[in-house]
Amino acid sequence: MSDYFTELGHTPTGDNGPDDMDRNYRRLQVLAIMNGIDMDIEVPEASKRAIAKMPLHDITEDDVKNDVKCPVCLKPAEIAEQFKVLPCKHKYHEECILLWLKKTNSCPLCRYELETDDPVYEELRLYRQDEPNRRQRQDNLMDSMYS
Ligand SMILES: [Zn+2]
Ligand SMILES: [Zn+2]
Repeated sequence: MSDYFTELGHTPTGDNGPDDMDRNYRRLQVLAIMNGIDMDIEVPEASKRAIAKMPLHDITEDDVKNDVKCPVCLKPAEIAEQFKVLPCKHKYHEECILLWLKKTNSCPLCRYELETDDPVYEELRLYRQDEPNRRQRQDNLMDSMYS
């Protein structure tokens, strides 16, 4: 990584130290991914705000009848338990999903990405989330050009 910065003419340690350098490197990763380069980027944990926003669902008899399970620990849901509901509608035991969301920001089942506190990563998350709209805008543009 330091070689890469040296090549670009950057001094490896800026005024703000290694944190600043790390942030710059991550910004480059985000730009690379946005430009279609396949690259791994460290994913931050979900923000406290995103977690607080997720509603709780009281397990009902119907859930039990329908054999609802927590996808993390695979234990069947029991009456009086509460499951956290992610924006993608997948439900988990609160303690199971909170543990998971400390490591990464996405739903274990469908990879829906929750908000994070990392401004650099947020740029990439919002860019990815906007993908269907972006495609639609491109289609509309094509339609208006060729019809
Ligand atoms: Zn669980
Ligand atoms: Zn999901």
